[in-house]
Amino acid sequence: MYDLIFRVSYIVGLVIGSGIRVWYARRYRQKRASIFREEGFLVGLLASLWGIAILLPLLSTFTSWLDFADYQLPVWAGFAGIVVFAGALWLLWRSHADLGRNWSATAEIKESHRLVTGGVFRHIRHPMYAAHWLWGIGQALLIPNWIAGLSSLVIFIPLYLLRVPREERVMIEHFGDEYREYMKQTGRVLPRLR
Ligand code: SAH
Repeated sequence: MYDLIFRVSYIVGLVIGSGIRVWYARRYRQKRASIFREEGFLVGLLASLWGIAILLPLLSTFTSWLDFADYQLPVWAGFAGIVVFAGALWLLWRSHADLGRNWSATAEIKESHRLVTGGVFRHIRHPMYAAHWLWGIGQALLIPNWIAGLSSLVIFIPLYLLRVPREERVMIEHFGDEYREYMKQTGRVLPRLR
């Protein structure tokens, strides 16, 4: 019974999260040229795999194909998962709203790209990636299956480790001291302790 509630919570969250992404991607559909773009093959591959990993809970809920990898989690883990996953969706929404037309799927500088330092970007430099961390943790808590539960976290960790230094290098090249100063005020995904 609880298992069903947690799985349905994930699927509802998946629909909301996809809706947020599609809505903002369409709203700010870029006509502006890219000044600089960097996307390694591995990062691109991992990003595509992540897109598949977040769908695996559907497979484990609606088919028996992944049943061999099921395990038990205490009920409190599922409730914690709902809270964490709701936090992921909120942060995904806020970071899209604050980043506006400066968002892109790859590490990229657009014409008239503006450095955003307000809203959820005020304390952390990568709120959208923080949302992806929370998503992965929430998915692991809501879906007690070694493959469908853990896949997005397992794929996102190397993606994050490869992507963030690269993105920050691009930001420093383009914004220089403005970004270096911003780095001093903020943490990557956790606020800097003063
Ligand atoms: N790393 C950020 C943004 C992810 S979207 C986050 O996790 O919230 C990726 C794009 O956002 C990159 O092309 C990068 O150029 C842009 N970007 C990242 N930080 C930015 C900022 N503070 N202001 C404006 N654009 C930013």
